[in-house]
Amino acid sequence: MEKLQNFINGNYCVPIDNRYFDNIDPSTGSVYSLIPDSDEKDLAVAVSAAELAFPIWSAMPSEQRSKILVKFSEGIEKRMEQFVAAESRDNGKPITLARHVDIPRAVSNFHFFATAILHFSSESHYMEGVGINYTTRKPIGIVGCISPWNLPLYLFSWKIAPALAAGNCVIAKPSEVTPYTATMLGEIAVEAGLPPGVLTILNGTGAKIGDAIVKHPKIKAISFTGGTATGEHIARTAAPMFKKLSLELGGKNPTIVFDDCDFEAALKTTIMSSFSNQGQICLCGSRIFVQRGIYSKFRDAFVAKVSTSVVSFPENPRANLGAIVSESHLKKVLGYIDLAKSEGGKLLTGGNRVFLPSPHDKGFYLEPTIFESLPYDCKTNQEEIFGPVVTIMPFDTEEEVLMMANDTKYGLASSVWTMDVKKAHRVADQLNMGIVWVNAWLVRDLRTPFGGMKASGVGREGGLEALRFFTEPKNIFIKYE
Ligand code: NDP
Repeated sequence: MEKLQNFINGNYCVPIDNRYFDNIDPSTGSVYSLIPDSDEKDLAVAVSAAELAFPIWSAMPSEQRSKILVKFSEGIEKRMEQFVAAESRDNGKPITLARHVDIPRAVSNFHFFATAILHFSSESHYMEGVGINYTTRKPIGIVGCISPWNLPLYLFSWKIAPALAAGNCVIAKPSEVTPYTATMLGEIAVEAGLPPGVLTILNGTGAKIGDAIVKHPKIKAISFTGGTATGEHIARTAAPMFKKLSLELGGKNPTIVFDDCDFEAALKTTIMSSFSNQGQICLCGSRIFVQRGIYSKFRDAFVAKVSTSVVSFPENPRANLGAIVSESHLKKVLGYIDLAKSEGGKLLTGGNRVFLPSPHDKGFYLEPTIFESLPYDCKTNQEEIFGPVVTIMPFDTEEEVLMMANDTKYGLASSVWTMDVKKAHRVADQLNMGIVWVNAWLVRDLRTPFGGMKASGVGREGGLEALRFFTEPKNIFIKYE
């Protein structure tokens, strides 16, 4: 059985206590590799290496850091099919999704921040006749990056690329549920010429090694993506130590379809925004509001199309949906289907676990599921399910849909469908979400601020926001007289 390793001080190494736990292939339900159960002893070695590396890496001209990070992106690109296969197996996602979304985006993340750092400039503020302020932005030191399982390498690289580009040493932990592709980055780091100690990849559980990273006094900033409850716990631990925190958390995103939309485009994209990656994308729309005039037509077409979706093993190129990431997550999503029924929801399609023939008979598959007749404020419509389960609801007026869409504790993303440009601006302006797509979903420009309001997070990632987060500003004032 393959044993994954940690990557510390430029070398792959076994965990100090030599303890491991199972890595399960969600498409078959069987163990296929072992994950290091790292703890604070492994972290101590990593921090010592990072302390030695920081003066070298932070002093390196950004042009040189940029070249190394470009090599990172090229290293992944060169091994595209290896990464694609590994990501799809570890996570259960259709291989076509890993090939077209996850791994190309990891390549872009490194390339984007490798070049962004070359354009990162400091500000100056001139005070007429008095003097001038200028602001320097230096790397923070050692930073912690903790990422989730849904878009494993995509989100891991989205954090470590800007952190490294800005000159920090990074101690990163992928999710224990999907550690494989992050671990593969060690080899790329060596090949790219990254100095030892600059990047550490520690595997293990959130409760043990994740918590140790958050608590370590020499780790000065934490960039976290994951569930809101975990984010709250991390904030509580890190805040008294005055660490910089970036928290990208859960969502309960609305899709709003007005009568005057481009019907076919809205339908096609809503299927994607509801069920891509088995609904396990923080940006997926799980509450679909459709204006009364087209409600029945849209609902019927939506249900008809979704009920023909192919749920299959990840390597099947025809699979629209692959496996749910783990058995425990599958149980959680099934629990929400029971909840929706108990709240009076009418099941329009789906709702059942899917059993495929051997060798996938123990895999974690679920039908795409649609409910209607649920009030906007019931638990099913308020809590994040993070699976292939959506609700559809009619609305009459703009005011009404804005009230319902905004009425959750979350505020991450939304997708609005209308051909009326004034309405589009008006509605977008009033949605309390960090991201609004009009007549689109998941169109990403890496320069834009990414993140949510309310319980969906604190701070923003992407572009200059990320480079600012991973640097410490200092303002210097020079008096003229
Ligand atoms: P979790 O919060 O369970 O885990 C996220 C990461 O945190 C994992 O690496 C996990 O490790 C680690 N972790 C868990 N407990 C701790 C702890 N006490 N201290 C430090 N680290 C810890 O989220 P999931 O992995 O289940 O991901 C799904 C969630 O992520 C959803 O809520 C989703 O909405 C959100 N998400 C948000 C995004 C955004 O940009 N806003 C994007 C993508 C997902 P381990 O897995 O080993 O337990």
